[in-house]
Amino acid sequence: MRIPRRALFAWAAGLLVGCNGGGDGDAVVTISTPATSSLLTTPTVAPTPAPPPEIVTSADTIFQAGASIVSVVGDLSGGAISFLNRTYQLTKGARSYYAVIPADADDPAGTHPMKVDFVLKNGSKGSMPYQLTIRKTAWTVDSITVGPQLAPLLDPKVQAAELAMLRGIYSQYTPEKLWDGSWALPIGGDVTTRFGEERSYNGAPVSGHHSGTDLGAASGTPVGATNSGRVAMARQVQLRGNMVILDHGGGLFSGYAHLSSFAVAEGEMVRQGDPLGFVGSTGLSTGAHLHWEMAAGAILVDPYRFTDGTNGF
Ligand SMILES: [Zn+2]
Repeated sequence: MRIPRRALFAWAAGLLVGCNGGGDGDAVVTISTPATSSLLTTPTVAPTPAPPPEIVTSADTIFQAGASIVSVVGDLSGGAISFLNRTYQLTKGARSYYAVIPADADDPAGTHPMKVDFVLKNGSKGSMPYQLTIRKTAWTVDSITVGPQLAPLLDPKVQAAELAMLRGIYSQYTPEKLWDGSWALPIGGDVTTRFGEERSYNGAPVSGHHSGTDLGAASGTPVGATNSGRVAMARQVQLRGNMVILDHGGGLFSGYAHLSSFAVAEGEMVRQGDPLGFVGSTGLSTGAHLHWEMAAGAILVDPYRFTDGTNGF
């Protein structure tokens, strides 16, 4: 059968309209014939290639349980960083895209490759190699005796369940930077137990690492936010007692445990120094103190290193 040329065009146009009508709904379909002479008369100008992004770190050498802020400066629209078989999304900051790259307490010391995958605003993708060095941290060791009332909390199943619950929060990712500037101590007390301490409870073998920094203070001392963020959790858990967790965006969280009571509720936005609750001794605690945690990409890191300059910021 011979079909007139005009009819064939109308039939093809109908198919196109049908396809679009099933998708976005308000899509406008325009059909135009190509201007066959444009390639001959219009000079083509090659787009200026975007300059490659630049990697800027707060530190190229960090301690076990330390962290480096890795910024990727350029015309980016996103990307991710891989380090030690873990991947961290790049988050849009004020001047660059960044990720807080943690070293786990048990990561091996040495120089390790890091890979920065990026997407430019023009849609092109690229990858850049880099490397970070991890230095060994000397962990303190302590023996702790707890009475019969707290002894049930030493059950490894209780510890594993709470850690799993916390990891569920710490592994969340908010794609916006909610923190700004430098990090502050939540209270003015002295460090009574460092992050990472290896502990023996009631004579049992030494195991694990203390998951935060303990700061000594009198019961009732107001606990301030170490930086701005959103209250991701404010409730009682078994080991950490009354606990507040702040989401600082980009996979960074801070936790405040053993509180006597709360001053915030879940979902609230807070600024640095805002009271979150009050020092207490709830949960697995033998006296009033603040247990302060930080997690980056669900890896627990030493919060004190966010304030003493050893992370390079
Ligand atoms: Zn503690």
